[in-house]
Amino acid sequence: MENLHDIYNSGVYATIILPIATPKIYTYVVPKSFVDQIQSGIRVEVQFGKNKLYSGIVYEIHKNKPKEYQPKPILTIIDDKPIVNMYQLKFWKWMANYYLSPMGSVMNAALPANLKLASETKIMLSPLFDNDFSDFSDKEYLIAEALTIQNEIAISDIQKILDQKTVYPILYKLLEKGVIYIKEEMNTKYKPKLISCVKLTPYYQEDQSRLAEAFEKIKRSLKQTEALLALIQFQKTIDDVSRKKIYEKANSSSTVLKELEKKEIIKFYDKPISRIAKHEDDLLVAGELSEHQVTALSDIKEQFEKQNVVLLHGVTGSGKTRIYIEMMKEVIAKGGQVLYLLPEIALTTQMISRLKKVFGDDIVVSHSRLNNNQRVDIWKAVGNGMPVVLGARSSVFLPFKDLQLVIIDEEHDDSFKQSAPAPRYNGRDVGIYLAHLFGAKTLMGTATPAISTYYNALKGKFGLVEMTERFGGISMPTIEIIDKKDALKKNRMKSVFTLKLIETIEEVLKKGEQVILFQNRRGYSPVMQCEVCGWHTECKHCDVSMTYHKYFNNLQCHYCGSQQNLPTDCPACGSSKLSLKGHGTEKILEELEIIFPHAKVKRMDLDTVRTKNALNDLITEFENKEIDILIGTQMVTKGLDFENVTIVGVLSADQSLHVPDYRANERSFQLLTQVSGRAGRAKKEGLVMIQAFDTSHPVLHDVVQYDYINYFKRELRERQKFRYPPYSRLIKITLKHRDPKVVNEAGKILGARLKRYLGDRVLGPAKPSVARVRNQFLIDFLIKIEINNKVIQQVKNVILEQTNGLTGMKGFSSVRVNLDVDVY
Ligand code: ADP
Ligand code: ZN
Ligand code: ZN
Repeated sequence: MENLHDIYNSGVYATIILPIATPKIYTYVVPKSFVDQIQSGIRVEVQFGKNKLYSGIVYEIHKNKPKEYQPKPILTIIDDKPIVNMYQLKFWKWMANYYLSPMGSVMNAALPANLKLASETKIMLSPLFDNDFSDFSDKEYLIAEALTIQNEIAISDIQKILDQKTVYPILYKLLEKGVIYIKEEMNTKYKPKLISCVKLTPYYQEDQSRLAEAFEKIKRSLKQTEALLALIQFQKTIDDVSRKKIYEKANSSSTVLKELEKKEIIKFYDKPISRIAKHEDDLLVAGELSEHQVTALSDIKEQFEKQNVVLLHGVTGSGKTRIYIEMMKEVIAKGGQVLYLLPEIALTTQMISRLKKVFGDDIVVSHSRLNNNQRVDIWKAVGNGMPVVLGARSSVFLPFKDLQLVIIDEEHDDSFKQSAPAPRYNGRDVGIYLAHLFGAKTLMGTATPAISTYYNALKGKFGLVEMTERFGGISMPTIEIIDKKDALKKNRMKSVFTLKLIETIEEVLKKGEQVILFQNRRGYSPVMQCEVCGWHTECKHCDVSMTYHKYFNNLQCHYCGSQQNLPTDCPACGSSKLSLKGHGTEKILEELEIIFPHAKVKRMDLDTVRTKNALNDLITEFENKEIDILIGTQMVTKGLDFENVTIVGVLSADQSLHVPDYRANERSFQLLTQVSGRAGRAKKEGLVMIQAFDTSHPVLHDVVQYDYINYFKRELRERQKFRYPPYSRLIKITLKHRDPKVVNEAGKILGARLKRYLGDRVLGPAKPSVARVRNQFLIDFLIKIEINNKVIQQVKNVILEQTNGLTGMKGFSSVRVNLDVDVY
């Protein structure tokens, strides 16, 4: 045991990032015995508060004793080499600063769960652990044994079991060995992936000369003989021979193998396979570049000579992916790494399989449905130089070593923005910063650039390359606006469908072609209303109406997820005249089945693709033409590439056009252009029918004409007039509290203080349109800042000071404050 003098007098201090959302990062003293081992990026165990222990990450080592408090000592050193590198620490710091987020929150977003244990974490015994305790230390044994008795144990209880305070080093070791795993908060159970394998029974394995007896036993079955030969052949080179391999090689089946098993010649067993899926099929050579692609590629490279960021603006189906592939190959050939960012991994199975076919095992896919072990495997693979990472926004946190290219596909997509929890970052923008840190290049691509991105390109901040034609000389689909007002007047509507749309679909179905329909509302009906008194169903916890879901036969809140049984009578007046208003995808599907009784209709929305397989199955069925009409929410607008789809229908364009938001036009243009892009992607002419009441809306006009520039210019003028981005920066502040009086009072106080420093940059306090969510009452501020880096930084400092000041005041400590920089 060291004496106190030694502990406190090393003169060496370290700032430690802890997994908690405090605004500051704290300094600890490095005890003399640790001075040689301490380094940035390793984990250490420290005490915070009265008796909470955390494993945190060393940010900086320095000699400055803090003045305001007596630093506590570091208790244990967990790693002997850094688990995060210097790039990552710099990246975190920048992110915390830019997005006004505590460092601890950034670290929490960045680190896989297995690398950041905390006292409330629960651990379990891995189902793969084979109860072989032979190389365990006494303490490891105690933990494993406890876990065989109790299913799960919190880390705070492990301290009791071991009767010692510091337990993280042992736990990290057990995690590393695969003995334990962390109980996942989400209900995705950890299921190791197993493949069924075959081996010889020990009798034959031990002495292969006995195989002659086996062949004698099966000499009358050619199939069995062939299967056995195949097994013997494979065993020479492979440790675990899968059943599948034998089926393929010996053209045999499971009955043949079962026969061999019955005769005790072979045994079956399950082998857990690597959690990073291996690519099994042969690689494909990507198709020859077209002339347009060659030109675009050389333009991009030329622009990269003087620019770090290039925007590839290419119409839907122009073959942007093929260009990314070419750029990626060049980086891989130089030994560098590529980060390929996509807005939503779940919706891009087609893209993933396309890239996997080209890059095989050189690519890992990082997405939200991975379990903790898979996350660590990917983390390590990237740290060891994995050439390509394909992932959603969170993959910016992986420990790249030599990042040379960041590709941001569909850069315009709003799903790049994290809305909760902090840090509320935009994957596109931080992707560009990450590339900048490494001196790497960024290539962004889309058919519908975000206004701010195109603005930057025109200003010369980004390079710009345009592709105006589809690959293979295929024409862009024709887009028609169908007037719903007119159709109603002439009695040419059936429910929400114009007869024109119905007739067109009928013709297409006759030809065996497929249809995609878009309606941005899931469930059956968004409102249930009393026809007598006007009462409608509202969520108990949020200020929104509840959607009727027929399949579940209940009402659901799409804000908080709560569910309620259906009322039989109006709770307000007792009338039984309750009617359903509005059309969700579920209701539309039902109507389509009646209108087109011979067509196979399926629905693609959050409710039908809750599992990864459901989505894949749906896509495969559609690809195999087992589905005629696919009706879906915005999921159907993104990236799908089906060659047999000739008609795309938008049931109500008005939905997105008339949202009170400065980005309503931008969103609508993107949405309508992208969904149109799903039509006529192969040889057949595509047709898009957009139903709308407000047919004269200028955005619709530009969508029909494919006039991006006209839309862009008009939109930019509006933004300038009202000082919206890109002519300003927006930061949203949201206050939340269970008591409306408290949150209103807090809003008033904060508003007055902010205005004192920031003047009319402050809009608010205001009640948002949904003013209560999950029983929390909300008050919003929007801060509009002129484009001037110095001013922006000053404003951010004021916001931090004032919001911290607010929660430091008596009576307001339980007010929650969300800060959202560059809010959408
Ligand atoms: P975008 O991403 O620009 O919308 P895609 O990359 O999806 O376009 O390409 C459109 C279609 O053209 C896809 O089906 C793709 O497989 C095909 N394609 C693009 N480039 C080539 C090429 N060089 N050789 C063969 N097929 C290509
Ligand atoms: Zn009523
Ligand atoms: Zn709710």
